[in-house]
Amino acid sequence: MTKKAPPENSIMLNEVAAKEMLAAAGIPVVVTKLARTKAEAAALSREIGFPVVLKIVSPDVVHKSDIGGVKVGLANLTQVERAYGEIMAAVKKAQPAACIEGVSVQAMARPGIEVIVGMNRDAQFGPVLMFGLGGVTVEVYRDVTFRLVPVVRQDAAEMIREIKGYPLLTGYRGQPPADVAYLEKLLVKVSGFIEKNPRIRELDINPLIAYPDGAVAADARILLDA
Ligand code: ADP
Ligand code: MG
Repeated sequence: MTKKAPPENSIMLNEVAAKEMLAAAGIPVVVTKLARTKAEAAALSREIGFPVVLKIVSPDVVHKSDIGGVKVGLANLTQVERAYGEIMAAVKKAQPAACIEGVSVQAMARPGIEVIVGMNRDAQFGPVLMFGLGGVTVEVYRDVTFRLVPVVRQDAAEMIREIKGYPLLTGYRGQPPADVAYLEKLLVKVSGFIEKNPRIRELDINPLIAYPDGAVAADARILLDA
């Protein structure tokens, strides 16, 4: 994995700050806190409650799980301390020059359907909202769709229904369905969030984990104009 510098005149919020910004706009996120040492990670995991997730926080690591920078389902302090050491070792091995801010300690979200909500600015058309199937396989399937911001409820309803994976959201083969009405409202909310924050150049919520009742952002990336 090569080090990818953020584009010129931009600031990449770390995952903790990106989730804070989303939460302030009423977009649900998993509890996420920054630990700068192993002892802080242990204390935060106790405060948040097990099981927790640990992730590398570094502006130089774009795909955290690709390099062993994400450890999920940590059930006790021993596992948290071991995971902290493993993450640091993995990052140092994969990207020795990476600047490390610390590790985020997060509540472990329950399983659901992983979707992606994103935004990019088109030079001609302005902000474009993306929705699709998410998770670490998003690049493999590329099952995503786009609409210009502002996205209204009808647009959101169409976006969700036009992805190939839509049947997964309605309860494919006995799997619990996603709350499609909730996802529609959330897309409209994200669209409004983008309109109110013209400094946001790029946004990625991947995954947003969708449930039969609501959804929660488990990973977020926000690129701001400097
Ligand atoms: P990456 O930088 O590789 O995109 P993510 O933060 O998206 O890293 O984590 C990778 C995967 O780990 C997610 O797709 C999700 O399945 C799982 N995951 C991440 N954070 C959480 C969390 N807080 N709770 C439960 N699962 C999570
Ligand atoms: Mg992710």
